[in-house]
Amino acid sequence: MSLISKNLRKQVNILGRRSLKVLALESSCDDSCVAVIEKDREDGLKVIQQEKMTLNSAKWGGIIPTEAHMFHQSRIGNLVRQVCEQQGFNSANPPDLICCTRGPGMVGSLSATLQLAKGLAIAWDRPLIGVHHMLGHILISQMPKTEQPHLPPPKYPFLSLLCSGGHTLLVYLKSLSEHEIIINTSDIAVGDSIDKCAREIGLTGNLLGMELENFVHSIPQQRKEEFDRIKTVTRDNAFNFQLKLPLRGHKHMKVPDNLEFSFSSFLSAVQGYKKQLSIEIFDLRTKQFLAYKLQNLIFDHIIDRTNIALLKHGFRNDIFEYADNKFEGVNDFICSGGVASNQTLRQKMSKNLLLENLTEDKNNFHFHFPDISLCTDNAVMIGIAGLEIYEKLQLRSDMSILPLRKWTLSDLVAVDGWLSCK
Ligand code: ZN
Repeated sequence: MSLISKNLRKQVNILGRRSLKVLALESSCDDSCVAVIEKDREDGLKVIQQEKMTLNSAKWGGIIPTEAHMFHQSRIGNLVRQVCEQQGFNSANPPDLICCTRGPGMVGSLSATLQLAKGLAIAWDRPLIGVHHMLGHILISQMPKTEQPHLPPPKYPFLSLLCSGGHTLLVYLKSLSEHEIIINTSDIAVGDSIDKCAREIGLTGNLLGMELENFVHSIPQQRKEEFDRIKTVTRDNAFNFQLKLPLRGHKHMKVPDNLEFSFSSFLSAVQGYKKQLSIEIFDLRTKQFLAYKLQNLIFDHIIDRTNIALLKHGFRNDIFEYADNKFEGVNDFICSGGVASNQTLRQKMSKNLLLENLTEDKNNFHFHFPDISLCTDNAVMIGIAGLEIYEKLQLRSDMSILPLRKWTLSDLVAVDGWLSCK
């Protein structure tokens, strides 16, 4: 049974217009975001304005859902009013489309903006699109990139590695509405693990992933090379510290049926080490060593698991006899989400992924690294994903939609509340 109902009520038809302006809202976690984007048939996508306010959770050591809810409730109204005033949006001149994150995320946080978006859509008689947060992270790759100005947008089918504080997924996208999760995490998300590890080694701040990246960056090159020579597979090293890649036994070339990431063992390793030394604060050299090894091995684990997926679903049955070639035609790889702004991860992806399992001509293969400011949560990505859903799938949301705490990406159009615009 199709869950998509017919549009019973006639609404202003904006499909096919030369240019569309979108007002987009996002508040799935701790960022209150508003953006206006424009898509012009000739000039493509453009960000007109984007605003963002982030809840500072440093004093709590993590995001408290009720605090996040109150934060969004108190901030989003004025943020939307400011953007509307600056863009001249009002009942006589409304934007063409209202997009808002529907899920997955914290329900209180999501509802703060979803209710407001519904109100605007009703008042201005404009379509509302309840957007999947992770589809936004993936489709942000359609925006022109400062560091890759001549790279065209990715073409389906493509792969996307989504790394954030809430998710770690390798997704295969056959089309806008056909997604398959190839690897998911079996425990915590990579960003969560990085934040907690950074806190354990003594770093502070609101954006701990960035603190860790900057701290590792500040280690002198000579010392990094010294750390590279120290192996941590066993505790038999100068620091008496053990850290190895998870899920990688003696037979690591054996391809498991279900591929998974696992990031909790990194945290256990540093917590166990603190207990072993019976200390609360590390000296600078130990702190540098732990930060360097943790960051590198966490990213090596992502590469290691992704490479197994490329082996399993690639075309090289001369290397792996059960290679099923599922990824045939994939020539684009998107690295998105907050953690994807990390330069070390970007370098490791470009250098260490075994692309020979996917293509005979690596020159045809492209990595897409969205601008760092668009890797973390933002409303631009929600506007882009909502616009795609509206234009390509010709769907809009009913006013009855509720925020979704969980929403599997492969169920994008299988959830309730979609209306056909046809
Ligand atoms: Zn996100």
